Amino acid sequence: MGNWEENVRKVVPYVPGEQPKRANIIKLNTNENPYPPAPGVEEVLRQYQASELRKYPDASATDLVNAIAENYGVQASEVFVGVGSDDVIAMSYLTFFNGKDPILFPDITYSFYDVWAEEFRVPYVTIPLDQDFHAVLSDYDRPCGGIIIPNPNAPTGITEGRAFYEELVKRHPNQVVIIDEAYIDFGGESMLPLIHTYDNLLVVQTFSKSRSLAGSRIGFAIGNEKLIKYLMDVKYSFNSYTMDSVTIQLGRAAMEDKAYFKECVGKIIDTREWTKQELKRLGFVFGDSKTNFIFAKHPNLDAAEVFQELREEGIFVRYFPKERIKDYLRITIGRREEMETLIASLEKKVQAKSC
Ligand code: PMP
Repeated sequence: MGNWEENVRKVVPYVPGEQPKRANIIKLNTNENPYPPAPGVEEVLRQYQASELRKYPDASATDLVNAIAENYGVQASEVFVGVGSDDVIAMSYLTFFNGKDPILFPDITYSFYDVWAEEFRVPYVTIPLDQDFHAVLSDYDRPCGGIIIPNPNAPTGITEGRAFYEELVKRHPNQVVIIDEAYIDFGGESMLPLIHTYDNLLVVQTFSKSRSLAGSRIGFAIGNEKLIKYLMDVKYSFNSYTMDSVTIQLGRAAMEDKAYFKECVGKIIDTREWTKQELKRLGFVFGDSKTNFIFAKHPNLDAAEVFQELREEGIFVRYFPKERIKDYLRITIGRREEMETLIASLEKKVQAKSC
């Protein structure tokens, strides 16, 4: 036996939420949108000619980039698209996080951040959130190679408000600061209006949540032209054709239907607020989520047990067996009926514990 394993890049991979094989699951575990994508998306699928697939896709995804640029009132040269924001963020690590100082991100956050850092050999330090899961600005006042932070944060659902993130960007002019706005459309204040004020600000968003296209894998970054050009250079040095021809058109159709987007996001926000009231009534404790999920704990319930019991009942939520958050469940906002079923089940569990 040789020792070729010495040269293997060994990583502990990110663990995605479970995609159940059974039908009739109430799926509240991966922050998907419970509504279908815009009607124009289905139309693109129906009209698509298989013969088109002979050709390579448009490497610069022009139709999609233009639709995004038009929607946000920026130049096409300020938009970078990738295969989900996971791809966009991975490319951003490769492009911008090459310094010797560690990059910074919160201790409780998207659990892919440390995985990419390990994979790309980027040194990092995690900055603890306070006991209410808020980020503390002054804790980021230290030499660093860059910052990545979600607005609002995941899995907590909490946003710190635009002034906080702006200050972070302002205090680190020599580093790229990535604001991951995967959930911004559900009530946060985007940093997009500031991309011309700060040349070190990169805002990343996704079609996976508010635009119901998790299965198509579309993410994008918006920032000044220079940042985007550097990102493109790295992407074209990695794989030119990451996004397929069909997806480019699906994304364009989704972005163009502004009314449908507003309607779906509005319904999810209403259901979230209803769910908050119900969870509160049952004694759950949680921060003020501005996302399509709620991160909640209950003083009398064991989160790991509830997670398992719900799973057996066909209700999937997310549980992270990690220090500081092991008492919490992350519950995606589904349709109102789905949330009613969840609340009824939780109510029984709470009652059983108080008897
Ligand atoms: N950022 C955050 C904070 C997320 O929760 C997710 C979803 N898992 C992503 C990025 C990646 O989303 P996607 O690759 O589907 O765009």
